[in-house]
Amino acid sequence: MKALPDFDMVLFGGTGDLAMRKLLPALYQQVKAGTLSPGSRIFTAARKKVSTAEFLELAEAQCRPFLGDAFDAVTWKAFAERITYFSMDAQKPESYAPLAAVLNEEPERIRVFYYSTSPDFFAAMSANLDQAGLITPRSRVVVEKPLGHDLESSREINDAVGEHFAERQIFRIDHYLGKEPVQNLLALRFGNVLFEPLWRREWVQDVQITVAEQLGVEGRGDFYEHTGALRDMLQNHLLQLLCIVAMEPPTGSDPDAVRDEKLKVLRSLKRFTPMDVATKTVRGQYKSGAVMGQPVEGYVEELGVASDSRTETFVAVKAEIDTWRWAGVPFFLRTGKRMPDKLAEIVINFRPVPHPIFGEATHGGRANRLIIRMQPDESMRLYLVAKQPGEAMTLQPVNLNLDFAESSRDRRLEAYERLLLDAIRGKLTLFVRRDEQEAAWRWVEPILEHWSASEDRPKFYTAGSWGPAASSALLSRDGLAWNEED
Ligand code: NAP
Repeated sequence: MKALPDFDMVLFGGTGDLAMRKLLPALYQQVKAGTLSPGSRIFTAARKKVSTAEFLELAEAQCRPFLGDAFDAVTWKAFAERITYFSMDAQKPESYAPLAAVLNEEPERIRVFYYSTSPDFFAAMSANLDQAGLITPRSRVVVEKPLGHDLESSREINDAVGEHFAERQIFRIDHYLGKEPVQNLLALRFGNVLFEPLWRREWVQDVQITVAEQLGVEGRGDFYEHTGALRDMLQNHLLQLLCIVAMEPPTGSDPDAVRDEKLKVLRSLKRFTPMDVATKTVRGQYKSGAVMGQPVEGYVEELGVASDSRTETFVAVKAEIDTWRWAGVPFFLRTGKRMPDKLAEIVINFRPVPHPIFGEATHGGRANRLIIRMQPDESMRLYLVAKQPGEAMTLQPVNLNLDFAESSRDRRLEAYERLLLDAIRGKLTLFVRRDEQEAAWRWVEPILEHWSASEDRPKFYTAGSWGPAASSALLSRDGLAWNEED
């Protein structure tokens, strides 16, 4: 991989869960891969009162399980030598002086400020960095989701960060966009002539996007009770994946060409009326059950919240896109906690053959589908029908593996690695632009409003199931079913 330019990275929230599970391991992997230039430095910041040596001890213990076999003591030492920890309250302007002193040793360097804290601090951090004179033309800021809990609050955060950073300096991260199969989907769509003619209402019957977790709300109960699955997952990750599937071919691969096309998709999503919300959305909340053979508590018991909590831990939506390409094609989106499997996939179901000359034996005539899987494994498979060898004309489904990672000797990059590298290089293509984010909020707002005004509460589903029965009914009304392909 091409060596990176020298950079300084400041990781606010350096002791947090995301830093330990994803960000520091991603940077470690780049040290191991030899991509970081020798002079590049990493500064971690949080309020915890520890020295750099103590921080590194903590970081080693916490990152190691996530590094697995990639961990080795020599690389860790080289990685640790780049890190300095600052104990500081990022909300207090006076606490920036020590950080400023080291950053100003290299005033011309690329600076990446990574906000891995609650978004409540983003405004103060931006103002304080600016006041300390630390935002240079070569600085960028990476902001974690969720950016707000509705359109208005997201605007407030964007305004506050935007007062100090230009839009070209703001990298709104959505790690699903950094996943290898999503990149591969772009390559498949826009690097070939074969798929584009089929990629439209004439040949696509429906699209399904699922992001399912086996976990419950774990330690994030307070946050989750005020957020729910629609805000936490669907508004950002699932809509971004929908954009990648549905966007028109961009004129080039430059960031705005791609982001303009994604924005057009978001703006073309049919807006929900209250009646649509009632018939095209399903919200659920898990009750006790079993996941992977282990009994688990229901949402309200796990959190100890009021038994009439209306927070949804599952959401399914039938979205439609009002364009010539997609009119009439349903895009089914679902995401939930305490599902039977950890699964993230996009399924493109192509239409049945117009006249089944071999009978209905082949998948009830539905022979072709493309499955792009991001979890638990990363893969891309195209399902076709072929003849079984032998005398009889017996057909069988086969699949073509369109993913070269298994045969490639190159290590597969984790989404956060790719996105951190892009942020350092200043490549915005895989980051969400402000207008995209706001268009996504604008689309989900009628759903949020109707839910909060409605007397109904989320439907219960048993932990370890695929959500309320209404989720299957959402598809069966169109004669369809959620993909169950392994
Ligand atoms: P977390 O575990 O609660 O960590 C928060 C971090 O912020 C800690 O390092 C904390 O350290 C620091 N912090 C809090 N107040 C501070 C202050 N005033 N000044 C300086 N540092 C302060 O949260 P997280 O799970 O890592 O999440 C971080 C961000 O990423 C959030 O916006 C979250 O929504 C987002 N995110 C997280 C995940 C995930 O998997 N964890 C996934 C997607 C997005 P001290 O308490 O010592 O100050």
